[in-house]
Amino acid sequence: MEIIETFSSEETYLFGKQIGENASPNAVYALGGDLGAGKTVFAQGLAAGLGIKDPVSSPTFTILQIYDGGRLPFYHFDVYRISDVEEMDEIGYDDFFFGGGVSLVEWAELVEEILPEETVYINIGKDPDRGFDYRKITVRNSEERL
Ligand code: ADP
Ligand code: MG
Repeated sequence: MEIIETFSSEETYLFGKQIGENASPNAVYALGGDLGAGKTVFAQGLAAGLGIKDPVSSPTFTILQIYDGGRLPFYHFDVYRISDVEEMDEIGYDDFFFGGGVSLVEWAELVEEILPEETVYINIGKDPDRGFDYRKITVRNSEERL
């Protein structure tokens, strides 16, 4: 387990960027955190780290947003609206998780059972006592989560 503290959105962006720069093909990141935690900021950094120039937004209204043109393809999932994991089969998720790109999954707990063993779990949390711009980012592997 790794804990990173950030004190501005820029720092969270840069942490995401660092992850993107170092991500291997087929890496899957499960990204958690409340609304306004900084998930989109992190995703934008990750995409930048992969060399993606297109603007990255909150996926919310689409389950999957695909960004090409970087060092590796970037698959940004938001599975919030999924009512059954089978919907992930329908979109052919394994072509993405195992297709050589980098996947980031928001609301991953809803599709827990299909996440690969190697999934890296990243949670962004606030702590009001530490100030408005403070974020605690926790990085865990699947064993450390239990
Ligand atoms: P989410 O996608 O989790 O709903 P966003 O990334 O859209 O959240 O928004 C995070 C908001 O919090 C932005 O307005 C950002 O500027 C602000 N913010 C303040 N401090 C931080 C920080 N340390 N890390 C990330 N975002 C921060
Ligand atoms: Mg968002």
